[in-house]
Amino acid sequence: MLTVLFAAPSLWPEYRDTLPQALTEAGIAATLVTEADPAAVDYIVYAPASPLQDFTPYTRTKAVLNLWAGVERIVGNPTHTQPLTRMVDPGLTEGMVEWVVGHSLRHHLGMDRHIVNPGHVWDPTCPPLARERPVTILGMGALGSACATALRALNFPVTGWSRTPKPGNLHGEDGLRQALSTAQILITLLPKTPETENLLNADRLALLPKGAVILNPGRGPLIDDDALLAALDRGQIGHATLDVFRVEPLPQDHPYWTHPNVTVTPHIAADTRAITSSKVIAENIRRGEAGEPLLHLVDRRLGY
Ligand code: NAP
Repeated sequence: MLTVLFAAPSLWPEYRDTLPQALTEAGIAATLVTEADPAAVDYIVYAPASPLQDFTPYTRTKAVLNLWAGVERIVGNPTHTQPLTRMVDPGLTEGMVEWVVGHSLRHHLGMDRHIVNPGHVWDPTCPPLARERPVTILGMGALGSACATALRALNFPVTGWSRTPKPGNLHGEDGLRQALSTAQILITLLPKTPETENLLNADRLALLPKGAVILNPGRGPLIDDDALLAALDRGQIGHATLDVFRVEPLPQDHPYWTHPNVTVTPHIAADTRAITSSKVIAENIRRGEAGEPLLHLVDRRLGY
């Protein structure tokens, strides 16, 4: 009988039924607990806000299974040496696709002009078609590639940029310059790593077409905030819809709250869903026990 420690106390009510069911369906005999003798724990289900920060006594633990897609708050923990997986969850992916498509269409169609029109202005200018609105996605992993598929289905020409070369995607510094130069809508779905921090600095924001819109559901530190505010003030960036920030909740006095061309959404772009993610956790424990490679293993060297 395995011992699985659920070390994300605030999420326990969501998982107390779905996870045991998923473990049973995967054929795993396990005791699922919220407290345990560390030396007896086989697997840890984890979320970054967990009080568990010292992994040293978990000598028998075979893997830590993160419930979030982003792992920046655990990947550098020096006490954590066991294999670490991140979450790729169908529910999370669907949520992100809906947020990205919804906010892309808002800007593409110029919906704000009609939703807030106190002067009752009759302006019959039609928006362009999606096929005339180039979109760039920085980060073509689980979430970025799903968003690209959905936007392409609406006829948006989508350019993708990632770290490694992939068919149809750009990569590297030259690829980034090319990807930015055409992006009327820029979507950032990169992880936070030392390489991606402040990726969108003043020089790179200047490469975008004037008036480009930025959607950032990735991580706050991907963008140099001062550079973005300056670019918004100059009109170089037409609008920024931001879901993630360096400090969350976004402090009340942060200029993003009051800037006329910034929309703040409170880190709600996509959430892990217990009903679907429990199956992913159970499948990884099954794999761990069968000696098969774990799904969505984090590369500590790369930080994601
Ligand atoms: P993923 O599958 O690991 O994909 C990450 C992508 O970023 C990959 O395409 C990777 O390139 C690329 N990348 C990483 N470092 C790079 C670099 N230095 N230069 C260029 N490209 C780089 O991650 P995911 O599941 O799509 O999630 C992406 C991020 O979304 C998460 O890390 C998290 O921060 C964020 N997120 C936000 C929310 C929200 O509610 N706002 C929810 C979930 C996730 P390769 O393909 O070459 O490896």
